Amino acid sequence: TKWVYGFGDGKAEGEQGMKNLLGGKGANLAEMSNIGLPVPPGFTVTTEVCTYYYANGRSYPPELQGQVETALAEIGRITGKTFGDAANPLLVSVRSGARASMPGMMDTVLNLGLNDTTVAAVAAASKNERFAWDSYRRFITMFSDVVLGVDHSHFEEILDTYKERKGYVLDTDLQAPDWKTLVGQYKGLVKEELGTPFPEDPHEQLWGAVGAVFSSWMNARAITYRTLHAIPEQWGTAVNVQAMVFGNRGDTSATGVAFTRNPSTGEHALYGEFLINAQGEDVVAGIRTPQPISKAAAAASSSTKPSMEEAMPAAFQEFVGITRTLEQHYRDMQDIEFTVEDNKLWMLQTRSGKRTGKASLRIAVEMVKEGLISKEEAIARIDPASLDQLLHPTIDPKAERIEIARGLPASPGAASGEIVFSSEEAEAGKAAGRSVILVRQETSPEDIKGMLAASGILTRLGGMTSHAAVVARGWGKPCVSGAGNIRVDNATGTLIAGGKTFRKGDIITIDGSTGQVLAGKIAMVQPELSGEFADLMVWADGVRRMKVRTNAETPADARQARTFGAEGIGLCRTEHMFFDEGRIVAMREMILADDEKGRRAALAKLLPMQREDFRQLFEIMSGLPVTIRLLDPPLHEFLPHTEDEIAEVAASIGVSPAKLKARAQELHEFNPMLGFRGCRLAVAFPEIAEMQARAIFEAAVEAAASTGKPVTPEVMVPLVATRAELDIVKSHIDAMAQAVEKERGVKLVYQVGTMIELPRAAIRAGEIAESAEFFSFGTNDLTQTTIGISRDDAASFLGTYVQKGIFAIDPFVSIDQEGVGALVEIGAERGRKQRPGLKLGICGEHGGDPASIAFCEKTGLDYVSCSPFRVPIARLAAAQAAL
Ligand code: PEP
Ligand code: MG
Repeated sequence: TKWVYGFGDGKAEGEQGMKNLLGGKGANLAEMSNIGLPVPPGFTVTTEVCTYYYANGRSYPPELQGQVETALAEIGRITGKTFGDAANPLLVSVRSGARASMPGMMDTVLNLGLNDTTVAAVAAASKNERFAWDSYRRFITMFSDVVLGVDHSHFEEILDTYKERKGYVLDTDLQAPDWKTLVGQYKGLVKEELGTPFPEDPHEQLWGAVGAVFSSWMNARAITYRTLHAIPEQWGTAVNVQAMVFGNRGDTSATGVAFTRNPSTGEHALYGEFLINAQGEDVVAGIRTPQPISKAAAAASSSTKPSMEEAMPAAFQEFVGITRTLEQHYRDMQDIEFTVEDNKLWMLQTRSGKRTGKASLRIAVEMVKEGLISKEEAIARIDPASLDQLLHPTIDPKAERIEIARGLPASPGAASGEIVFSSEEAEAGKAAGRSVILVRQETSPEDIKGMLAASGILTRLGGMTSHAAVVARGWGKPCVSGAGNIRVDNATGTLIAGGKTFRKGDIITIDGSTGQVLAGKIAMVQPELSGEFADLMVWADGVRRMKVRTNAETPADARQARTFGAEGIGLCRTEHMFFDEGRIVAMREMILADDEKGRRAALAKLLPMQREDFRQLFEIMSGLPVTIRLLDPPLHEFLPHTEDEIAEVAASIGVSPAKLKARAQELHEFNPMLGFRGCRLAVAFPEIAEMQARAIFEAAVEAAASTGKPVTPEVMVPLVATRAELDIVKSHIDAMAQAVEKERGVKLVYQVGTMIELPRAAIRAGEIAESAEFFSFGTNDLTQTTIGISRDDAASFLGTYVQKGIFAIDPFVSIDQEGVGALVEIGAERGRKQRPGLKLGICGEHGGDPASIAFCEKTGLDYVSCSPFRVPIARLAAAQAAL
């Protein structure tokens, strides 16, 4: 077996495509060598050695030693030096390199091969004694820290004490004799700590470092990182051994890092830092302030030190050329490490650079325009979720965050404001021109107005599809839900979080993108939709097959969604329309009525308001399809619950508090999610469905007249389990259509369909499709009823479930493809078999989740429907799914 792959001198045994075997760093070093860039010669010990190491009680394959010796000899041939030689020693660096970059693992040992003999040879060859001893002390510190386990702070203490005694301030104040003295003290420390002397044999050093890299694959930090980023343990890491080049050989040497484009803005300009007379870790360590690479960047940062462009013009020009080569070659923005040794440039690493959502967008779009990548590649490269960063205000990345609690990232964006504990307080605060954060145990439809008034919402209970989360996302308003560790006490008006007590009026910040709750007001950055955003959306629209609709019920949401490119409304939740002043009273009258006559009287008051709602939606959607769902939630959600509220409401509608209380108790349900809701309301009280159907049809007639475009309403029946339920409700809808046609002298074109949100409905989809003209998968309820976990109560244990790997991800966020998804597939297949061409959509929260959207594409759905702020994300995700 070949365990070792060499590179350098314009060629390599590996290449870019061998990341699995050579790790990211190794594969790219080989590639850079292959395309003739100046890479110090070296070799990569493969990830298979790591696998072998752990499968064989931390031992190496027998052939490894021989292969390493051969590879070392090859480096020697190229450099003219010999590893371990007393007169002309080769020094090497040892670095880890997994397939994906992995912080937490052993990183780097530099200057390996130095000992009391070779240091003298290095001093003589470089004619620079200080450089040799400085390198030696760095080596002892790093090697002891990462290989021998002697913490570097011990060495720093020794150095600090020494500097203090000598009156030195900077490391550059120390001369060769100083470093010599320190090297002696460092070795003394190692002996004292470990009981054995610091290893002088270069081969022992090399194998020690290689072993440390492999061992670090299993250290706690690396394991945590792998779990967080779903990196399989079996991948293993590679080890890269490379001839040293020195950035610390005086003022003609330097080391630096650069991005080929700006990783935070995406601007096409070299972005980076370098340090003269330094080694790699100095740039990262932050002890000395690095200098900008280019003149332009130096001017922008008003740096007083010369840029690389000025200090090392030749090396800089070569570097700029190489960055262009690398971008052309990799066709992506690169993150590069380099060293200049005595004015000669060396490349130490290149990889695709990490970037913000904004930069990712700009870079991809500009690269298409530069002809570097295709539109399809640009579409595929952008993480749809990262578009969120572009649509909402976000916390200034430079701002300090004092975290007081953490919940679910229920609705992205961030907001600061005064704490309020009730809907009324929120409205009052807003009316007084203040920004408020509504803090609740959980929210219910009663809180709608307070939620609307608030800049952000924080709840202790509730998951990703809880009321607060769904409503907040619909409005693009930040929300953190399920922050289990906070205490909300409405009685005393206090919020306890992070061991501190906050009162009404105290200021907090929530970050709905991370789930963080932070103390105080924090600086934000406002979103601006760029031209690149529009370009990308147009390209995505050219590629996708599925339509993207929105879940919306207010004119503002509907308009917002259209500006984001929604192609219709996939779900109008009519219950949200009944909480406005005036309507809630009629709604409650309807619920309190003793008989059908009383109910009809109350419904008659609601009719004109509903008609007006629908007319506006139809007009805004201007001929695009609009799906309106009949009333869904249990009626008690519209009634007051506390004594005070009951008294107030009773007075306002003119019934006795006792009667109101009795009715509320009668309607009380132990499990409202499975109670008297959905089509069950329309089956028992057809007059409700009739009023809504009339409002829809009359509005359709009026909107068609005012817009001049035909309106085809889609009337949707919720929570159907059997065809019989749908047939009963449908007969009322059809009858109402006929009545309106007659009254208005028009012919209506409409469809009646159903939500598929109960397992039985999915299984009996064939039969249901005999009556239904379209299906919309309500995957919120379908998830709840398939897995048997409550949308509102699951937050308390779902975190643990995800941690323990029972679910890879919260099934209310990304569809459980194997379980809930299988029911969607069954429903789609059986429905279409019965009614070819049956229109299929999804309107659960999953309609805005990229992974779920890919699943919908695979299942052949016609459209996804999601909250307005997710429409752009869905457009991109649908395009990616279609590629
Ligand atoms: C669903 O259940 O998926 C759905 C869209 O309806 P709601 O969230 O209103 O129950
Ligand atoms: Mg539902």
